[in-house]
Amino acid sequence: MIIKGLIKKQISNQYTIIDLETKKEYLAIPSGKLRYVKVDEKSSFNKTYGRSTKKRQQIIQISPKVGDKVLLDISGDTNVIEEILPRNNDLVRPDVANVDQVLLVFSAIKPEFSFNLFDKFLVILKEQKLNIILVVSKIDLIPTDELNKLKEQLQYYEENVGIEVYYVNSKQKIGFDILEHIFTNKITVLAGQTGVGKSTLLNALIPGLDIKTQEISLALGRGKHTTRHSELYEFNDGYICDTPGFSRLDLNIFEKEELKNQYDDFVSISSLCRFSSCNHINEPGCAIKEAVKNNKIPEERYNNYVLFYNEIEDKKNMYWKDMIIWK
Ligand code: ZN
Repeated sequence: MIIKGLIKKQISNQYTIIDLETKKEYLAIPSGKLRYVKVDEKSSFNKTYGRSTKKRQQIIQISPKVGDKVLLDISGDTNVIEEILPRNNDLVRPDVANVDQVLLVFSAIKPEFSFNLFDKFLVILKEQKLNIILVVSKIDLIPTDELNKLKEQLQYYEENVGIEVYYVNSKQKIGFDILEHIFTNKITVLAGQTGVGKSTLLNALIPGLDIKTQEISLALGRGKHTTRHSELYEFNDGYICDTPGFSRLDLNIFEKEELKNQYDDFVSISSLCRFSSCNHINEPGCAIKEAVKNNKIPEERYNNYVLFYNEIEDKKNMYWKDMIIWK
């Protein structure tokens, strides 16, 4: 009998899989035939490496990973993963497939909200087709007028970039009631700088989950090369992925001309630029620069765009993505 399941946990070659219909859990191993698979250019398992390598037909080894939807044969003594279904996306660090959304946690203060880092996250996450939800933490520590100013600035992102924004105080669970619904039927990954309160937030959401234990056990591990393991935790009919320790979001870097495509708010205006290939830097008749002048696009967001553009140009071979840290 074959069932359709979701990989919840992986420990070396042993997988925990949830039957998507009955929610029953099975332990399973991957079938040997998954080892070498021929993939064409369009396969979701086919990846490019480096900056401009084109996808080509190749034979690759596919390993099932947390987040994968699989076909599982439960007829024999040992349950066997027969097939991995196409992936919507595939993150490397954390090693999770089919992530629906990223809960980006930024603190209102300590550390101060950084629009530079926020814009950078948006650029990188958008490329992976990840829906982004921003949670602003520590709202109890910031004066009301400063919080209101921040809310005003973030309103632009809600209205023009399609980002949902929530404001929480994890300690007193303020703002949590409206946060809970966002997890339903989705795989959610948490991301943000160190010190913004991700662990506090996660522990407050799922009281049974002891994130600290994992952080300590990782510190006692075999150093840098300790295998990181990702696991999905059921929460409000969805899954939250906890990724212990530091790791980085590993994405292919953009060409500088591609950067503008990651800005939804720019794309909608750029048809008015004089040149269709306008990069919105020094070109005459640029509608984006005009919109900045008329306060339709925040100056800081545009300035960050120019910074990133120059950064890509300056450090062609440097991995820009290394600046993003997941914890
Ligand atoms: Zn332009």
